[in-house]
Amino acid sequence: MNDLYAVFGNPLGHTKSPFIHGEFARQTAQNLDYIAIEASPGGFAASLDAFKILGGKGANVTAPFKVEAFALAGDRCQRAELAGASNALKFEDGRIIAENFDGVGLVADIRENLCTPLRGRRVLMLGAGGAARGAALPILEAGPASLTIINRTVAKAHALRERFSSFGDIVSGGYADLGAGDFDIVINATSASLRGELPPITERVFARAGLAYELAYGKGLTPFLKLAKRSSVDRLADGVGMLVEQAAAAFAWWRGIRPATGPMIEKITVPLI
Ligand code: NDP
Repeated sequence: MNDLYAVFGNPLGHTKSPFIHGEFARQTAQNLDYIAIEASPGGFAASLDAFKILGGKGANVTAPFKVEAFALAGDRCQRAELAGASNALKFEDGRIIAENFDGVGLVADIRENLCTPLRGRRVLMLGAGGAARGAALPILEAGPASLTIINRTVAKAHALRERFSSFGDIVSGGYADLGAGDFDIVINATSASLRGELPPITERVFARAGLAYELAYGKGLTPFLKLAKRSSVDRLADGVGMLVEQAAAAFAWWRGIRPATGPMIEKITVPLI
């Protein structure tokens, strides 16, 4: 019987994870099956238990269960510990081990696929939710000149700064504190685009930016990317590369072999038009 993996979330109607991991398995000649499990809002822990009893070896976890996945784990890797959330689990000798590859995926996409260094750059990240918490450590480990975190609920931005301040230079605040655009890379880690909304920014934030990165994916030009385009930012990207890179990192963690990501990104990219 093949080893079994799954993605847990709700809703999961459009999840690409089974396709991505199926292709990774073919590419690396790994015998595994990967399924989607849409757990009910209060039923994640029970679903995960049933999956383990069925012989599940590991799982990806997406909204809204990342914090619960972290809480259920007996062992937590540093990135998950600091994010307070987990998007990947491994089951080993009856233990649940929690990891968080969201930020790893983001940084790999920016550096390797978009050929944009983070070292020495001034990075602005909009949002302080789950994805931003997962992104902060890998961004700081990449050695930016500074990381500015801006959030609608300002206290959450400050909390993030406090949590990660020992890893690098972080500035935090609300949109009213956002002055002139002294940023090389602007990352939209808010969920505004999922509702077709724009965080309260103006073209000024893009004044010096060479890259505008939207974490949401598959939506074409979001309001954030449209504003960046109008501001003549050289490079626009959505989160499809991040999705594939975090999947590859989880796959390597489970299977000990890293799949190539380029062909998969090409396959599932939706043009930014
Ligand atoms: P959360 O719900 O945890 O956080 C949402 C964040 O967006 C909060 O900071 C919230 O601010 C902010 N926000 C929401 N609406 C607005 C608005 N209109 N204006 C300004 N700020 C707003 O979501 P996640 O962190 O899990 O997800 C964020 C984004 O990242 C989503 O688009 C998601 O699809 C994407 N994502 C992409 C991944 C990938 O692999 N490409 C992986 C994970 C996430 P406040 O705190 O004030 O409410």
